[in-house]
Amino acid sequence: MPVRALAPLALLALAAACGQGEGSAADAPPRDIAAWCSAGGARLGLEPGVLAAGASCDAVAATLSEYLGAYEADWQKVPALSEWTIRIVAERPTQGAQPGNFFAGETFWSSRTIDIYQGSLNVFPHEVHHVALGPSSDSHQGWCPFGDWEAREGILEELSYLGCPAR
Ligand SMILES: [Zn+2]
Repeated sequence: MPVRALAPLALLALAAACGQGEGSAADAPPRDIAAWCSAGGARLGLEPGVLAAGASCDAVAATLSEYLGAYEADWQKVPALSEWTIRIVAERPTQGAQPGNFFAGETFWSSRTIDIYQGSLNVFPHEVHHVALGPSSDSHQGWCPFGDWEAREGILEELSYLGCPAR
């Protein structure tokens, strides 16, 4: 019964498209960046709309550095991050998402770029975890301990997104 067999897959795809932070094989879309600084060794850029909303590059960098510090203290150092660019985007990124569904963050492997929506800076540890683990982590397999940690630290509640039992 191919139709029935497809139904759970369709639901899974929908859940992924609504996700917190997805890895993408696509190239990062071009973006205008109005301010550059650095965070955790990575290049950090803010879109004009993020500056217009009152954020400064240094303030965003400080927030991201706190998240990175928490991650590295409990998980692992991520020296590879120094080869990455983080872009804070004014609108939720939609590349690779289904119409009407959006990502809070996206990791573009080929261009070593992380896009994070300005209202969802707390998905940064999720994206850092992808960088630490590599492209095979796109499936989020074995991420339940990480999801538990995020919930325990009050960073992000995404256990159902990761397919993990609620705590
Ligand atoms: Zn992810």
